[in-house]
Amino acid sequence: MTIRAERDIYERTRQLMIDTQLIPRGITQSEVLHAMATVPRHLFVEEGLYAQAYNDYPLPIGEKQTISQPYMVALMTESLALTGTEKVLEIGTGSGYQSAVLSMVADKVYSMERIPTIAARARKLLAALHCSNVIVRVGDGTFGWPEDAPFDAIIAAASSPQVPEAYIAQLKEGGRLVMPVGAEDSQKLLKITKRQGKAVVETLGECRFVKLIGRYGWQMEKRETGC
Ligand code: SAH
Repeated sequence: MTIRAERDIYERTRQLMIDTQLIPRGITQSEVLHAMATVPRHLFVEEGLYAQAYNDYPLPIGEKQTISQPYMVALMTESLALTGTEKVLEIGTGSGYQSAVLSMVADKVYSMERIPTIAARARKLLAALHCSNVIVRVGDGTFGWPEDAPFDAIIAAASSPQVPEAYIAQLKEGGRLVMPVGAEDSQKLLKITKRQGKAVVETLGECRFVKLIGRYGWQMEKRETGC
């Protein structure tokens, strides 16, 4: 799936993001760099934040959620070692930015988002960008996506105290999972490879993501229910 590279006023800024934030920190896969140089990240934030969209930090997208820092998107995507033929499960669609990047480096993206308004906005933008190989569904992603499992790769952009069991179960043999695991305010970014049915765990670094809220993640707090 290819997003057409549009000429826009942020083209240079996008390239600067690659040259100053991604390459110096060790992102090397050319397909990932190409996707990050092509996807118009500014469109995934509100217009007042366009000028900041390519900066080295996450930004708010409403509902107390964030679009991940560009480097984090690149690191997580690269860690999945995709070749273009894979079926990928993404948990936490958010703005849809990570989904758009994945759509360029995988064959098909199944993306699950808990908050309906966020999912609707992402779906609309992804359609406008012709990301026809991404399906966005509303639901609790801690169950995974059993109907279309198994997946070659799974990526979760929200953090949990533990890896939901469904993710390992829904990975193919040799499949890769990347997700932040740990406490509310700080987590380790884990890469898990399924080898002979077992989870082989590597730590990619420290990170801080919003919470994965659901049956097998964090429980929703009372003040988050609006009651
Ligand atoms: N990669 C996204 C980041 C989204 S932030 C981007 O670049 O925009 C994480 C998202 O995970 C939020 O939108 C949040 O609503 C969603 N989320 C949290 N718990 C979830 C769950 N159990 N299932 C699906 N989505 C969830």
